[in-house]
Amino acid sequence: MKGRGREISLKRADVLKSKIQDYLDVRDSIPDGFQRQEMIEVQKAKILKILGGTEEDWNNWHWQLANRISDVEVLSRVLNLTPEEKAEIKAVGVEYRWAISPYYLSLIDPADNRGPIYLLAVPQRVEVLDTLGDLDPMGEEFTNPAGSITRRYPDRLIINVTNECAMYCRFCQRRRNIGQTDRHRPKDVLEESIQYIRDNQEIRDVLITGGDPLTLSDKMIDWLLSELTSIPHVEYVRIGTRTLVTMPQRITPELCDILKKYHPIYINTHFNHPAEITEEAKVAAERLSSAGVPLGNQTVLLNGVNNDKFIMRKLNHLLLTIRVRPYYIFHPKHVRGTEHFVCSIDEGIEIMEYLRGYTSGMAIPAYIINAPGGKGKTPILPTYLISRGKDYVTIRTWEGEIIKYPNHIQVQYVDQ
Ligand SMILES: *Cc1c(COP(=O)(O)O)cnc(C)c1O
Repeated sequence: MKGRGREISLKRADVLKSKIQDYLDVRDSIPDGFQRQEMIEVQKAKILKILGGTEEDWNNWHWQLANRISDVEVLSRVLNLTPEEKAEIKAVGVEYRWAISPYYLSLIDPADNRGPIYLLAVPQRVEVLDTLGDLDPMGEEFTNPAGSITRRYPDRLIINVTNECAMYCRFCQRRRNIGQTDRHRPKDVLEESIQYIRDNQEIRDVLITGGDPLTLSDKMIDWLLSELTSIPHVEYVRIGTRTLVTMPQRITPELCDILKKYHPIYINTHFNHPAEITEEAKVAAERLSSAGVPLGNQTVLLNGVNNDKFIMRKLNHLLLTIRVRPYYIFHPKHVRGTEHFVCSIDEGIEIMEYLRGYTSGMAIPAYIINAPGGKGKTPILPTYLISRGKDYVTIRTWEGEIIKYPNHIQVQYVDQ
């Protein structure tokens, strides 16, 4: 009998292997930051030369932030832009700010024109042609009970501490706040926000967001965390930052020492494409993990960037190798100037369909539509529960098998 079991198991193993052959066939052709290391080094040297910077400058986040590229001529020297592209970027920049950290610029492959990193960072004319999107689809204006708080849920809320970022994502949901200049929230606005949390005992989870909160100085972060964690009913604090992706130099040992004082601290970051996962990002992620900060990732589903089941699978796999746990895939919001990034919900569902079963549960984030008007995150799943009756439910497995399954156990005990 044992021989027969082995035979069936081997046959099944062959079937299972064949289920991911299509992925294995394309995996290595999806660019990632490790593969592109050589190209990135070349671009880095070029950027350093143009900006007159040193290796030491490169590794200093203050230098990275102060030297964000927002001049078309400089960008053009790094990426070999055509006159038309230069004119396009200039025209869009008047309406929507753009700026790219030297580090993030080094991730754009100049040979891969309009590749994923380019699309995420460099303005395109379509931004100013969009009249469909809303400026504030989340209605953040109407969910702001105090200071710079957004409250959409019973037990948690976000504090917005700045509008500054190391790179202004072209799909930004808060572009209305970006303007043309950097503005950290004044201390009295933060104090008012903290007081609101102190006064509302049901708030147990506080999320610090922006902009990018890690553009704040170490001193400000230290102060903010000490205030928040001194509130007895605040059980933990979360920080939402893209600096692991756009300026990993920000994750210094000094910053980690500050974070360590206020545990439990959680960080959610925002990788959108495997090409953003580099040696430097890995160092930053490992520094945070080693400081005891669990890392999660929130991706936005973006047309032309990652609306592909295999790109998403590879992204989630690589994230786990740098100790970042996939948390959310957000369906893109209808924000004015970003409509060209919006894709269909069918595409999001297909991505989810080809994660469950095909890969580790660890590599599967939740797919979320943010209901308009600040009505909250709404999970969207492929249908696994086909029907639900009193006695039985009908389920569909990841491979598409339909199975009748008892709804509850009807045990008949017999009195002896
Ligand atoms: C996203 C968000 C949160 C956090 O939501 P989780 O699902 O707990 O990660 C909290 N408050 C606001 C206003 C949010 O937009």
